[in-house]
Amino acid sequence: MLGDELQERPRPGLFAGEGLWPKHTRYEIVSVNGWPYVRPAAEATITWYRPLEHPRDFLRDFLAMVGEVQRTQEELAAISAAANDDEAVRRLMQRQDTAKAKAVLRFADRYGLLGIFHHYISYDHYIPREHSESGGEELVLYLQPGSIYPFGLAVPYVKYAKRFFPDGEPPPVGTNWFSDSFLHGYSESIQDIRYATNWLWHDVRLWETFRRGGFTPEDEAPSGVPWKWELRGITAGPIQVGLVFNGKLQLNWEFKSLIQAAQVMLLINMTTEEQQVRLCELPTCGAPYIAVHPAQKTCSPRHAAVLRQRRKRAEDRKRREQHAQETGPQEG
Ligand SMILES: [Zn+2]
Repeated sequence: MLGDELQERPRPGLFAGEGLWPKHTRYEIVSVNGWPYVRPAAEATITWYRPLEHPRDFLRDFLAMVGEVQRTQEELAAISAAANDDEAVRRLMQRQDTAKAKAVLRFADRYGLLGIFHHYISYDHYIPREHSESGGEELVLYLQPGSIYPFGLAVPYVKYAKRFFPDGEPPPVGTNWFSDSFLHGYSESIQDIRYATNWLWHDVRLWETFRRGGFTPEDEAPSGVPWKWELRGITAGPIQVGLVFNGKLQLNWEFKSLIQAAQVMLLINMTTEEQQVRLCELPTCGAPYIAVHPAQKTCSPRHAAVLRQRRKRAEDRKRREQHAQETGPQEG
């Protein structure tokens, strides 16, 4: 068949094999046209590790980073104040992203970048010379709906990859996407990280609402459907699970991005009674922590004391108001 020999080419590599994920020894923040990116430092070397071996630590640190990147309240206020001035809005967003890049850098130094490039690709396909627009062999990527690339779901590799190599040329077609030569200049913008983790953050907050509220599966969720339906919407992306002999027989998780790995860990976390990763219930904190006992509500004893004190004050205030309503206004 036409183009069969092209399809037999080595695939550039969609999955990280044997549950392994690449991590460089050091990362740095670079700014391209005012937008911050995180990428491996020039002299950094690559190592591989298994994110799913320490799911709780990973999930806690991942959520801390995502929480920082997704922090929106103050931003929305500031942006709506500057909303009439496009240039001011852009500068504001760039400044905020630059502050958030530090959280991504901290995370990357421990766990590597998120793999957003891989996250959205469903499959790839070589187009032979006679059928390609460019007149050369072309690798076309088929992206999932709602991906970061705004112009359609079938996109030439070179166009898509440009987003991840903002100040240089992407590695040539055929380079293994998990090789050192690909990953060395590979960069992720805070904008793309925010977009790609938005849904997971929504799921985490939904889960926290359910968990804290002490609801039953039949109770109504905020969206109006029973919680048991609502929670079924929390899923992990396409991950292959197989077996690998790694000293002993183990589950072999093949995932394309750390976001997918985190989604699996979130599902495991939700169905585990012990040592859940939770968000601190003190509103001014909200930091993720590993709960040592099931009743734990906050990240630390200090925040537990602050939370108790605040709740007591709120109750006292309510009681005083109720009392004032019942006793007054007295006719006089
Ligand atoms: Zn806290």
